[in-house]
Amino acid sequence: MKYIIIALALLPALMKISSLPFNAYGFGLLSGWLGMSLIAASLLLIIREPAWTDWFGGLQHMYLWHHRMGMMGYVLLLAHPLILSSHYFELDLDVAWQYLSPFNPDPINMVGWTGLITFMLGLAATFTQRLSYSLWRRLHMLLVGAIMLGLGHIWMADSSSVSFVIACFTVALAIGWRIIRGDYGIGAFPYEVNAVYHPTEQITEVSLRSLAKPMLIAPGQFVNAAFFQGPNFQGCGEFHPYTVSRVAKDGSLSLNIKALGYCTKHIQSLEPGVAVHLQGPYGNFLLDRPFSPEIWIAAGIGITPFLALLRSDKVDQKTDLIYLHREKENVPFEKELQTYAANQELLHFHSLAMENDPTLLFKWLASISRLKEQQIYLCGPPLLIALTTSWLQEQGVSRRQIHFEQFDFR
Ligand SMILES: Cc1cc2nc3c(=O)[nH]c(=O)nc-3n(C[C@H](O)[C@H](O)[C@H](O)COP(=O)(O)OP(=O)(O)OC[C@H]3O[C@@H](n4cnc5c(N)ncnc54)[C@H](O)[C@@H]3O)c2cc1C
Repeated sequence: MKYIIIALALLPALMKISSLPFNAYGFGLLSGWLGMSLIAASLLLIIREPAWTDWFGGLQHMYLWHHRMGMMGYVLLLAHPLILSSHYFELDLDVAWQYLSPFNPDPINMVGWTGLITFMLGLAATFTQRLSYSLWRRLHMLLVGAIMLGLGHIWMADSSSVSFVIACFTVALAIGWRIIRGDYGIGAFPYEVNAVYHPTEQITEVSLRSLAKPMLIAPGQFVNAAFFQGPNFQGCGEFHPYTVSRVAKDGSLSLNIKALGYCTKHIQSLEPGVAVHLQGPYGNFLLDRPFSPEIWIAAGIGITPFLALLRSDKVDQKTDLIYLHREKENVPFEKELQTYAANQELLHFHSLAMENDPTLLFKWLASISRLKEQQIYLCGPPLLIALTTSWLQEQGVSRRQIHFEQFDFR
């Protein structure tokens, strides 16, 4: 499927190649076409249909591809006026400057430059990690405006070409699909909050009852959930990702949601009867695991995929579960996890209270015999996953033995 996307990203530019002159002017036009078609094709990677995301190795990988293609497209678009201008550099400096200047009043130039500058602003927002998700999303929408301006620029230059029609069709398909099926949740699974329980002040365990055909989901996978309204609750209505923490035989599911930002803080006052839409299932964490001893490392609310697995079945191979948390007492789920470990010979549970410095975890891991032979599963914040992965690799654990789920992606 990746190759189809790459082919689609190259098609409009390839269709143009034969009509372009073999000089700097032609290369300038080619970089514009390539940039625009890469960006149009990258939009297909924001469609969140589960089967579609599976083809790219999961939502996280798919978004990575989306980012890389978008960045490559942007660099090519920046090169477009530079290369065009370089063609005129020796012939006529005034004309060369007109291609470079955002202040050139020619409408085609103004639309192109406004698109490029808008794109730059949208990208700057994309890389600002500390923004709340909803603000980040709104700023990211600037990129859609930039793409429309880019298409407007092409339309003014070359409206009748098939390449232009393909680029427009790709953009319309991707954005339309994402808005209708993704953001408006048409086709999402309807659920209802059945019960709410608070393991701690900051965490809400939500049990969901299916109102139609239930979603087929396995422990370790996650859903995109939007909470709507109930008798006294008004949810933020946005889709956010949560890993299931229980998958019951009757199709009901549980989520454990930690208060972090606007939406998740709001969810803490959830009540039974609230309507919920679920999209998914997504992800393949903990699915199809090779038969060998395992180490599970969960940081904070990253315990949810392991909780779902333990709540559904006993472990069938030697498993060390290391639970990292900040609490000195009242550790959420600790008693439940201790009970599983007490009743299962193969399961060993270790609770480690620590702050951000992972030295304690590394010390503990270093004491494990035959570390290099174990399969290691990590779930938690990206920084901890990155530090632990590189430490494990330094100890000789192969990258193929390390599996992780990050609780943050955009
Ligand atoms: C695969 C996955 C599984 C997750 N499972 C759980 C879980 O089981 N329990 C739990 O409490 N939390 C889970 N999270 C984290 C949860 O999605 C965020 O805490 C929540 O979306 C925060 O939203 P907010 O509006 O409250 O906060 P914001 O202030 O908007 O965001 C706080 C942080 O969450 C990230 N985030 C917010 N919305 C999204 C989104 N739609 N997609 C990706 N990242 C987002 C932001 O990048 C930001 O760093 C999971 C995240 C991912 C990616």
